Amino acid sequence: MTGPLDVARIREDFPILTTPFKGKRLVYLDSAVSGQMPRPVVERMGRYAQLEHTNVHRGVSTLSQEATDRFEEAREKVRRLVNAPSARQIVWTRGTTEALNLVAQSFGRPRVHAGDEILLSAMEHHANIVPWQLLAQERGARIRVIPMDDDGELILDAIPGLITDRTRILGLTHVSNALGTVNPVKEITALAHARGVPVVVDGAQAVPHLKVDLQDLDCDFYAFSGHKMSGPTGIGALFGKAEHLEAMPPWQGGGNMILSVTWEKTTYMPFPGKFEAGTPAIAATIGLGASVDYLEGIGFDRIAAHEHGLLVYATEALEAIPGLRILGKAREKAAVISFVMEGIHPHDIGSILDHEGIVVRAGHHCAQPVMERFGVPATTRASLAYFNTEEDVDALVAAVLKVKEIFG
Ligand SMILES: *Cc1c(COP(=O)(O)O)cnc(C)c1O
Repeated sequence: MTGPLDVARIREDFPILTTPFKGKRLVYLDSAVSGQMPRPVVERMGRYAQLEHTNVHRGVSTLSQEATDRFEEAREKVRRLVNAPSARQIVWTRGTTEALNLVAQSFGRPRVHAGDEILLSAMEHHANIVPWQLLAQERGARIRVIPMDDDGELILDAIPGLITDRTRILGLTHVSNALGTVNPVKEITALAHARGVPVVVDGAQAVPHLKVDLQDLDCDFYAFSGHKMSGPTGIGALFGKAEHLEAMPPWQGGGNMILSVTWEKTTYMPFPGKFEAGTPAIAATIGLGASVDYLEGIGFDRIAAHEHGLLVYATEALEAIPGLRILGKAREKAAVISFVMEGIHPHDIGSILDHEGIVVRAGHHCAQPVMERFGVPATTRASLAYFNTEEDVDALVAAVLKVKEIFG
């Protein structure tokens, strides 16, 4: 499809946006916390639950075979979305957090030893920090950090000096959930690969907003969550390069992931099966496939163009408010606006906005080291999606002016 988005039409797919909330029009500016699900996704899951449900990968019943087909079709849709070479390289997880823990435990643990180093960017979500800290503590390794500048851009010149012959992995977010920065993943991956260091990317905030091409980025692992990309909670994915997935041991054991079990010896399914122990989130997985269809139906060019237009519009309007400061001024930026107001706590801002029917996040955004870097305890964050409008931004700006009146 070409041309601008028909946002009015799209909004009809989201009953939460068109149903009055506390008597007001709901202004949802919190898609970085969790996106809303369009009707086709909800309906697809409902149809599965009511008419198609049984377990997958279990036996010869037609019902089970069809459920398995739908489940595996979703894997192919996700493969296509991120341009992975093969659907087998898409491992289902509960979300980004579980995917990154899988990498830390199954890929990281065997190769990280005492004195080794794990290199992470200064703008990681806790999901790409804490699993590495747990591993570093266990192994006696240490975490090193790629710094960022005052605009919220990583200092690329610092990277070569931070990679040593002890560096075992580099972890990087594609898009910062706290600042909106879009990191040059391809360039950083090339820098790391030149020194033989594998790269794990947190794609939770990238997949919903830009066209991700994993073969072009060339990273070793890439993690993302269904609920940030117009899909349900409880499902996400880990992409891995085939040679890694082949070599990695299982990290959870149980049914579904084995070829044969005896008291003497158990053999495992080839990947992705060996990483998917137990009954998966089947309805959610099929729902995620429907969300891929939905996003592709709109088109990522149009999503990105619409969101960028709103980002520019909102940035100009908010910056005109005296005493308001936006954190994160990267040249490449997704539609996330984190701001602080002189003398007013973000929680007070969030409460007043909530009263006006405007949903934003006030807090540290699971990125406390980013808050520390900028010397603030928290920010107020508005995050935009393809269903947002200039009217939503106008409502935000009006409410922020009201906050200033009350506290100013
Ligand atoms: C939301 C988010 C996560 C965590 O995703 P879960 O779905 O909670 O596992 C990780 N990284 C970033 C950048 C996020 O925005």
